Order: sequence, then C-alpha cells, then structure tokens
Amino acid sequence: LLQPKKRPGLHVIHIAAEIAPVAKVGGLGDVLTGLCRSLQKKGHLVEAILPKYDCMDYSRIINLRELDLELPSFFDGHMHKNKVWSGIVEGIPVYFIEPLHPAKFFRRGEYYAEPDDFRRFTYFSRAAMEFILQSGKRPDIIHSHDWQTSVVAPLYWNVYVPLGLDSARLAFTCHNFLYQGIENSEAIAACGLTVQDLMSPDQMQDNFFHNKINLLKGAIVFSNVVTTVSPTYAQEVLSPEGGKGLHGTLGAHSKKFFGILNGIDVEVWNPATDTLIDYQFTADNIDGKFVNKQKLRERLGLGNQGGDERRPLVGCVTRLAPQKGVHLIKHAIHRTLEKGGQFILLGSSNLPEVQHEFEVIARQFENHPQIRLVLKYDETLSHAIYSAADVFVIPSIFEPCGLTQMISMRYGTIPVVRRTGGLADSVFDVDDERIPQEKKNGFVFDDANEGSFNSGLDRALNYYIQRPEWWQDLVRKAMLVDFSWDSSADRYVDLYRLVLK
Ligand code: ADP
Repeated sequence: LLQPKKRPGLHVIHIAAEIAPVAKVGGLGDVLTGLCRSLQKKGHLVEAILPKYDCMDYSRIINLRELDLELPSFFDGHMHKNKVWSGIVEGIPVYFIEPLHPAKFFRRGEYYAEPDDFRRFTYFSRAAMEFILQSGKRPDIIHSHDWQTSVVAPLYWNVYVPLGLDSARLAFTCHNFLYQGIENSEAIAACGLTVQDLMSPDQMQDNFFHNKINLLKGAIVFSNVVTTVSPTYAQEVLSPEGGKGLHGTLGAHSKKFFGILNGIDVEVWNPATDTLIDYQFTADNIDGKFVNKQKLRERLGLGNQGGDERRPLVGCVTRLAPQKGVHLIKHAIHRTLEKGGQFILLGSSNLPEVQHEFEVIARQFENHPQIRLVLKYDETLSHAIYSAADVFVIPSIFEPCGLTQMISMRYGTIPVVRRTGGLADSVFDVDDERIPQEKKNGFVFDDANEGSFNSGLDRALNYYIQRPEWWQDLVRKAMLVDFSWDSSADRYVDLYRLVLK
C-alpha cells in the first residue's frame, strides 16, 4: 500500500550578480534565468540571491516585498544591517539584498565598473552567505558565478562551515576568465577572511602579482566543482593565452573542471510567440521574417525600395568590448557595403574611447541608406534585429560561449563566426566536408584578421544572393536546432550529484 518515496530533487541556491530580464548586462543574466528555470522544470528547488540594484527593471519582478528580518552582516570589522527582499523573476524565487551601508553599494545607477567593485561584491557575497545561514536554509548546492561571487567558496569553508552551515557542496561557473577580481591582498580581510591563510600560491595569491589576491582563483581552489560555459573554451583556458594567468591553477584542478555549453531560454527567445517583434513566424512559415525586415528598415530609415529590398541584411548585437573583435566589427560594416548588403549594429561599450570611435562611425553613416549604428543597450531592438536580419556576425577574439549565435539561429538568422570557444561548439560550416550534413548551420572562419573574416562573410552573402532557395532551407534548418537548456541542465545535475556523493 505504501508508494515508494520519490527521490526528492536537489535544493540549489545560485548567488550571482545578474538575472535576466531584471538585472542583465550580458550573457550571465540570460544563463542564470535559463539554467534556474530548466532545473526547476526538472523538479529541483531553485532559489537565487542577488544585490538589490537601484537600476534594475522592477517592473519584471512579481510580488516584490521586504522580508520581516534584519540581516546583520560583517564587513570592515563591523556588523552592517541589510534589508532582504523577495520576489519572483520569470518564475524563479529571488532574494535581493539591500545593504544599509553608508557606501550605498548598489545605489549607483550602474551594475558594474565602479571603482569599488571588489568591495561591493565581496560585501554582497558575505551578506548572501549570512542570509543562507540566518534563514536556516540547508541547500544541497550553493552555485556561484564569475568573480563577483567567487568569494562565496572560501567564505563557505573558512567561515560558514565552522558556524554550522555545512549541508552544501559548492559549484562555481566561470562565464569569462578575463575578469578575475584582483586586488591588494588586504582587501580580502574586509569580508572576514584571513589574508595570511589565503596568500599562498595554492590558494588565492594571484599568479602574476604576488602581493595581490585573486577572487576567481579562490573559487577554482575552494569549489567542489568548477565549470565554464563551453567544452572548447574549457580546453582553451588550459593554455597560457586562454587562461589569462589561471591556466596553471585550472590544470592543477582539472579533475573537477568541466565545460558545459550554455543553452538559451527557448520560451523567451521564441519567434512564434515573441511579442517584441512585429510578425511572429515559425520554421514552417518564415514569411513573417521578411515582413520584420521591411518594418525594421522603415523604422531605422534604411533603403527599402526596388533593389534595396533584395539586399541581404547583416546584423550584430554585442557589447563593444575588445574580446568581441571590435576591429572586425568595424571592418564588417565596410565589407557588407562593398558586397551590396545592409548593416545594422546594436552595441555599446563601457570603454569611453571605443564608444567614441563608434559614435564617429555612426555620424559618418547617419543618413546612409544601407548602414545604421545604434549605440546603446536596447532589448526590444535586439529582438527586432534577430527576427529581421539574414546574416549575423560574431568575429570574437575569444568567446566563452556566446549566446547571440544561438539566438540568431532560433530566429532564422545565419551566423558568421570565428572558430573559438562556444562559437566552435555551436556553429558548423556549411562548406566543411568533415561536418555531417544535418549539423551544418552557418559560416565559420579561423583567424582574427580581415581576410579570414571575408572568407566567412563573402560566402554567406554570395549564397544568399545566388541561391535563395538553398538559403531558405538553411534558415529553416537553423531554426530547428535544439539550443534549449534541457540537456545542459542535466549535465549540471549530474555534476551536482557527483559532488554530493
Ligand atoms: P556577453 O555575455 O559576452 O556579453 P553573450 O553572447 O553571452 O555575450 O550574451 C550577450 C547577451 O546580451 C545577448 O542576450 C544579447 O542579445 C545581449 N546584448 C548584447 N548587447 C546588447 C545591446 N546593445 N542591446 C540589447 N541586448 C544586447
């Protein structure tokens, strides 16, 4: 008569600096939402803890309310009070920590790039751990992300296990090894860690600057499992060039280091239901894509009559960071023009000199019928570009995973990418004879120079112009590739279970 007890799901708490669409700067925000939702669907109890930024999109948080507790947490030798808020983001329960610290850490109108980022995020990480302890939660897994929450792992073993929070194993995902959280060693003391204990080569001492502490290294050393966001990037970072100084540390911990390709949230990024685009469409009927192209051209003042109608539309949505191959993005604008296409760039840079450089180019093409540069962050316009463009360029120098190639394929926009990181794991060249026919979905080039880039873009534009029916088949095929989180989330669960054994 007794039913066998179902194996309960895991309790996973993510601690991170971003969650889409509420607090998103780049891929990290998308990944957090996509992974949490997929884990939830598989029956796990998933919660997230974030800072309560003043600049978040509060309209996308459901039931935001202040919890009836006062959360004191340690920083700079004192206890500081925090408010804690709870709310639901895309179905995920999220706790937002609001420090009542005089430095107003998360009331800056910005997510990052503040001079005291190290202090802002070590403060937050400590308060997040304090919240887990004081609320009596007993998670199976605490999963932190990127340098901002890297200090969670050393804090757990050095401070919180002795205080009795010992139910969990620690998972850490690095979304980009370029950003490591390096600071003068004393800075780590503020959140309650002991500098002398941690400043050794096998712990948190930076591998280049021996008087500095490296938070990302701490997460690698102290977490039970470390992942990054694609198998190819996981290989690349083991080399001196790719690892940005951490290749030796990763090599020493290679048994617990894995590359898992990100997915995309296929409900958010769905051309059949997307309300941010003019006309919805599916792989069975892609007519709406053409209408979206017409509408976008009209909206941005691009040529839309006669011969212009047949021009291939090339899109690019990106942070304008050096990693993204800024010189090739500039080149792509000119090359597209030479080849008779139209080009739309949506991007922005937090480097003033890069932003300025692109503003100059934008002015140069201000009333040009074939080129438009929109230099800001604009979620709605990004959806319009994915849904309207024919070709999407991603000439990254390195790319841990990259989401825009997957999003663009989901909307039938064919990517032209450099063979690096997650781009190499998700885009397979139509002309590569080593690739099985059913996997071919885009254009890949090898080197970060103009000639190599042209070999990818030119082929794409030639196929588009010369073989329209073949192109339409490629569009349908790209739209049907499964980029959902489903199988990647299973891999995370396998690793969680492995470290819990
Ligand atoms: P990264 O995390 O390095 O910025 P990813 O490709 O992993 O790169 O993720 C980028 C995400 O940010 C995508 O969802 C993309 O659509 C979005 N994005 C990038 N730049 C902009 C922009 N200017 N406006 C709107 N969305 C953007």
